[in-house]
Parts: sequence; structure tokens; C-alpha cells
Amino acid sequence: MNLNILVLPGDGIGPEVTREAVRVLNRVADKWGHSVSLTEALLGGIAIHKTGNPMPEVTARLALAADATLMGAVGLPEFDDAPPEKRPERGLLGIRKILGVFANLRPVRAYASLIESSPLKNHLVEGTDMIIVRELTGGIYYGTPRGISGVGAEERAVNTMTYTRAEIERVSRMAFHLAQARRKKVTSVDKSNVLENSQLWRRVVIEVSAEFPDVALEHILVDNCAMQLVLNPRRFDVVLTENMFGDILSDEGAVLAGSIGMLPSASIGGRRPSGAWTGLYEPVHGSAPDIAGQNKANPLGAIGSVAAMLDYSFGLKEEAAAVNRAMETVLNSGRVTADLRPAGRPSTTEEVGEAVAAAL
Ligand code: NAD
Repeated sequence: MNLNILVLPGDGIGPEVTREAVRVLNRVADKWGHSVSLTEALLGGIAIHKTGNPMPEVTARLALAADATLMGAVGLPEFDDAPPEKRPERGLLGIRKILGVFANLRPVRAYASLIESSPLKNHLVEGTDMIIVRELTGGIYYGTPRGISGVGAEERAVNTMTYTRAEIERVSRMAFHLAQARRKKVTSVDKSNVLENSQLWRRVVIEVSAEFPDVALEHILVDNCAMQLVLNPRRFDVVLTENMFGDILSDEGAVLAGSIGMLPSASIGGRRPSGAWTGLYEPVHGSAPDIAGQNKANPLGAIGSVAAMLDYSFGLKEEAAAVNRAMETVLNSGRVTADLRPAGRPSTTEEVGEAVAAAL
């Protein structure tokens, strides 16, 4: 297979972690006989420096032409006070929009060797393996009317939580498809005891579930879900939820795994002719300016994002599973970066990347 991939290293530790992710990708290609065509482009702070624009036209064009996009991170402290259109983060929102990625997938796994890094007691977090599917382009973050009007005691703010049936159907189908390849269980999160929006959500999810008789569906209210994530995270397989609930719950899920540097993410849109998803893959962490350029950053979030890319955008399940196993081997060997608090000398970003490639 030819993997035509756009790489957007971005800012801070972005270039360091994507370099290791690309190393692992090239190793996979060598081993399984795929060819990789890599193109690199500018996004974020570096793009502002070089072109004045956080998402240059050429980056957008290349992203649309690629089979999949791998991103590092964007954000530089020097832009903290810049106007919104001149901030690196605008580039990230721009690329998501251009690619039409309507679902954000965050796998949350408790690796046995990292169990001590979790804030939860070992017996609670052990064996956790879920994926949170968050609707990414609808809901209260985008709904209109919105705004602040009036003055004095009458000043008021309005936001609108809105979903169409079509928006709920497409993200639900994605969650059920994912569940079919996992433990075949979807937990749909809503607030249907209070919100009409959630009542439609629940009704449509039930309708979609009829297309997937092999997948079990349960519903849970968002407040209970927040509680169950820390009381009994093992009960979840695929968690399906709307934009704002997913924003909050996925950060709660993130801490279960130990370090933010460990966490991959995939933002996925339409189907390609092969049946695979179009996607943008990136570690969950930001540009970590405090450790940038020091060869200290944990590259496993970026490497895990390559595994997600192989799986969802290319349907290469065997290769994806091998990358995940190689990461686990390296974690078990203790060759990890400082954020995972190894017993001996912490490994560098490069050493961890090399170790994962060697384990493959
Ligand atoms: P951050 O994720 O960059 O860093 C938070 C803390 O985690 C820091 O102490 C950092 O050193 C540590 N950390 C993060 N990734 C790590 C890794 N791979 N290995 C080891 N340690 C790691 O979040 P922040 O400090 O709030 O934000 C810094 C910049 O990143 C800001 O400009 C922010 O806007 C941007 N940001 C970008 C993204 C993105 O590109 N998707 C996401 C979040 C934040």
C-alpha cells in the first residue's frame, strides 16, 4: 500500500515527537512492504513566523490531497496576547475544519507498567481500555443564536445546543463500527432527563443501533458517567457523546493513563473509497514550551497516533496492533522519558523512538 501522509510538526516539542512517530511509521512500512510518501508543511506559530498565517493556503491544499495528516502540536508563548486570527491555535481549528473531521477519538488505556502513575488506586484502573468518541463539529460550541446582550441587571448571555439527526447519525455509526472491532459495547452519554437535545440524541442512537445487532448499547447520564469513569473505568468500551460533554469527559479519561505525553488522538471525517476514514492524527498534549528542544518529550502520544492512523485511515489493523505492542514492550522495559518517572536514567525522546522502532 502507498501511504500518502502530510506531516505538520508545528511548534515546541511538536517537531521532536513527530520525528520519532515518522521513524516508527517508516519502520512499519519497511517491515510490511508499504511505501510512504511524506510531505511536510507549516502550521501554527512557525507558520505565522514564516508566512504571517497560522494555516497557510498551501498547508490546507496539501492536507486535502493527503490520505492522512499527522500533526505534532501548535502554540508558542510569544503569541499568548495576539489577536485570535494571529494565534497558532487558529491553525489547528482551521485544519480540522478544512478536513471536515466530525469525530474525535481518544483511546484511554491503563498500561500495566504505568499503573503507579495513575491518580486512581491500582485495582480500579487496572485493565482499563476504552475509546471516547466525541462529536467535534456541532453542539453548543457552534450553535446559534449565541452572544451577550443587554446591560446592567438585564445583561444576558445565550448559547445554543443544537444537533441535527444527520449529525447524530454519522457519529453514532462511527462509534458502533469501532465497537464491532472491539468488545462490542457502546455507552451513549447524554442528559436526556433535562435536555430535549439529549432526548433526540438518545432516540437517534437507539435507531442507529438497530443496524448493529451485534453491539450492545447502554445509556448513561453525563453526571453519572463522570462518576463511573473514576469508580469503574473498566466497564467502558466505546463511549459516545456530544461535543461539550466529550470535551470534559475526555480530559477526565486522560488522567487515568498516567502522563499526558502518552495519549494519542484521532479526528476523523468522511469515508475514503477504500472504506477507511479520512483523518487528522495528533498527540493530545500541547507544545510544552517548558521542555521544547531538550530531547526530553515523551513521543508515545505521537507514536500512538501513528498506530491510530494505520488502523482508521488505512485499515492496517495488524500493523497498528504491532505498534501498540511495541510501545508496551518499551514501557515494560523501563526505557521511558522523565515524565513517566523511570527508576533509572530517563531516556531521551530519540531513544524512546528508536526503542519502539527496534521492538517492531
Ligand atoms: P502542554 O500539553 O503543552 O503541557 C502541559 C505540561 O505537560 C507541561 O509541563 C509539559 O512539559 C508536559 N508535557 C506535555 N506534553 C509532554 C510530553 N510529550 N512529554 C513530556 N511532558 C509533556 O499544555 P500547556 O502548557 O497548557 O500548553 C502549551 C502550549 O500548547 C499553549 O500554547 C497551548 O495553547 C498549546 N496547546 C496545543 C495543543 C495542540 O496542539 N493540540 C493542545 C493543548 C495545548
